[in-house]
Amino acid sequence: MDAAEYRYNRLTWPEMNGAIARQPVVLLPTGSTEQHGRHLPLDTDLFLGESVCLEVGKRAGGGVLVLPAIPYGLNLHHIDFPGTIHVEPEVFIAFCLNVTKSVAYHGFEKILLVNSHGSNAPLDDIIARRTTLETGSLCAACHYPNLAIEEFRTFKDTETVAHADEFETSLYLHLAPERVQMELAAATEDVMGAYLSSDSTTPYARFNDYWSRWTDNGVHGDARTATAEKGRRIFETTVTRLLELCSEWRAWPVAERRDFHERPPQAGIRW
Ligand SMILES: [Zn+2]
Repeated sequence: MDAAEYRYNRLTWPEMNGAIARQPVVLLPTGSTEQHGRHLPLDTDLFLGESVCLEVGKRAGGGVLVLPAIPYGLNLHHIDFPGTIHVEPEVFIAFCLNVTKSVAYHGFEKILLVNSHGSNAPLDDIIARRTTLETGSLCAACHYPNLAIEEFRTFKDTETVAHADEFETSLYLHLAPERVQMELAAATEDVMGAYLSSDSTTPYARFNDYWSRWTDNGVHGDARTATAEKGRRIFETTVTRLLELCSEWRAWPVAERRDFHERPPQAGIRW
């Protein structure tokens, strides 16, 4: 068993037995292949989320295994921009659930979905809950930008944190500046009413429109103020917090279920 290898599918099956005995947290990054303005590649969510997870795996000393990332998500609202790939939410949930259930089947007790595409977040929540309820393992879900958002607020220069914006562009500039076309970086604010917004940013009424109806460039927020230094700070904060989250999750007890019925229930029923 090679405890230094943190990429799930780089292990052989005999090494997998050693990993199961060690009980690392298994991370499933969920990303997208989606337009990110004129200045960022379509792999932005996938690349940023996967980079964070792989760095956590590298620093976790055998406490984390990283699954191959899911590269597609719910994206029909971006389909008017060339290249975006959309996967139906039912298909996404079913596919990811098959992955998490396979991991649970082998005996890994702690699974964590690490999301990087906002529209996947409610789906990841359902996948995590169903994995916990339908297997003997525990599964949780997090959206990686949430781990850095408090810190980011202390040095950000623009108001909106959303999509292909100061946050994501900075992080991409830190990790692979040669792939960012900063001369094309732009800004868009969404269309806001008292209760509604074109990008569901209001707490009152969730509404996410086709993005071609309200933005000409596919950006939500302002990418022009992005820098690699901001990206470095976002990356370090995210990796540090995700490492802490993984340690907490790894130590979390898997308690026994208890049956409080006075007469035996129909235990054979499956939902
Ligand atoms: Zn994104």
